[in-house]
Amino acid sequence: MAEQGPNHGLAAGLLRWYGRHARSLPWRAPGSRRPNPYHVWLSEIMLQQTTVAAVIPYFQKFTARWPGIGDLAAASLDDVLAAWAGLGYYARARNLHACAKTIAGKFGGQFPENEDGLLALPGIGPYTAAAIAAIAFGRSAAAVDGNVERVISRLDAIETPLSQAKSAITSRVLDLVPAMRPGDFAQALMDLGATVCTPRTPRCELCPWTLACKAKARGMAEILPRKAAKKKAPVRFGHVFWLERSDGTVLLRRRPEIGLLGGMLEFPGSEWMEGARRSPNGSAPADISWKRIPGSVQHTFTHFKLELIVHQGMINSPSGGLWLHPEISPPPRSPQSCARLHGM
Ligand code: SF4
Repeated sequence: MAEQGPNHGLAAGLLRWYGRHARSLPWRAPGSRRPNPYHVWLSEIMLQQTTVAAVIPYFQKFTARWPGIGDLAAASLDDVLAAWAGLGYYARARNLHACAKTIAGKFGGQFPENEDGLLALPGIGPYTAAAIAAIAFGRSAAAVDGNVERVISRLDAIETPLSQAKSAITSRVLDLVPAMRPGDFAQALMDLGATVCTPRTPRCELCPWTLACKAKARGMAEILPRKAAKKKAPVRFGHVFWLERSDGTVLLRRRPEIGLLGGMLEFPGSEWMEGARRSPNGSAPADISWKRIPGSVQHTFTHFKLELIVHQGMINSPSGGLWLHPEISPPPRSPQSCARLHGM
């Protein structure tokens, strides 16, 4: 931590700027009030992989329905998953619920106040632990997300690709964190990255660090941070089956709890395999005549692309499995909308 010298000046300048330009967000405590750790944690989990604008209505819905960590812990997982629907990355919702149960059950409803204690909880990684420790508990911690990486890369004109510069950036943030108001500093840095030092066309003329910024001085702000060349995402192929019974219900199944889209409902189908398209060999849920729906369903996950062929069939005799009416919970209305139940 720096109290004097250039780092102190940078932190002080950023905090002054934050005093005038802080974003008003529903999880932030106004004025000098102490932030509610439950609100800080909930917002940080929701904000992983998602934008502030998308998170605000979910945050408001969750806190209205479950005002405290104990309320969320007492909720059923199905209710939490249903309230989360649309935010994506459902493993986060499962971890959110598991974390609430751990805190309510093992910690008497109180969050651990340091990074190590927070890191031991489900769904909390290094960034989230640092953000909660700093914002909710005033700890000196380096909360480094993509926004912060960008700002620091530019401040110091770091030309090393981000993947190799992460520890240097974290050390630099730790050097900058002031002893007083580390939580405000963390939020100020997030706000600076989100509103001024934006990925394209940073607004350097509004930036409290404009005089110190090396990238600005060298005219290279817009080309930093550097990223390593991206590998092309592999494509996986698969088949799904829309099997309808004469009573209008459609066959679904639940995915395994662990893994991609864990515990979600899906249409029966084949494995998703890389390489050449394969026939649906043996993956159909019934030995009937299937009609292939023209085209395919495509979706991009973070680390691969998925292409699914949809097959439609009818069956008269009742059979085992989970049969749901399209008009009731989750509502796929046609074979072409299979994608919705695949979280697409
Ligand atoms: Fe970013 Fe410009 Fe500020 Fe540098 S001066 S930190 S490039 S907004």
